[in-house]
Amino acid sequence: MPKFGRRSRDRLDTCHKDLVVLFNAVITEIDCSVLCGHRGEKEQNEAVASGHSKAHFPHGKHNANPSNAVDVAPYPVDWDDRERFFYFAGWVLAKAEILRNVGEITHKIRWGGNWRGFKNGVIDFKKNTFDDLPHFELINDISFENGE
Ligand SMILES: [Zn+2]
Repeated sequence: MPKFGRRSRDRLDTCHKDLVVLFNAVITEIDCSVLCGHRGEKEQNEAVASGHSKAHFPHGKHNANPSNAVDVAPYPVDWDDRERFFYFAGWVLAKAEILRNVGEITHKIRWGGNWRGFKNGVIDFKKNTFDDLPHFELINDISFENGE
């Protein structure tokens, strides 16, 4: 059974409890690495400068403390293997729905490869204008339909 290394665990521990519960469930089934949890002002400025984020401090979901977003990649990380990120995200989102249905977590999860979510049950990745494939964040129900 895969499990998180020390750095992944430390990063996950900077996140909202729902993200901790979710990824502690995911890691038992798919090996993955937590790349980033909470980001302070300096880290957020760097993320914007490098094109990894569009949100300026303190408006990013990573800037909350505990963090409302987490970046997680399937392990070993291969940025050229986009299919793996899509498969992984589908797994994460389905697991999140299961955990929410049984009351283990209270938020819905939005993925950075599909900011718009499902419109009437339809997925349309082509309308995703900013791919952030390792990014998962907490959302409140209603905002999901509107996307960003
Ligand atoms: Zn992120």
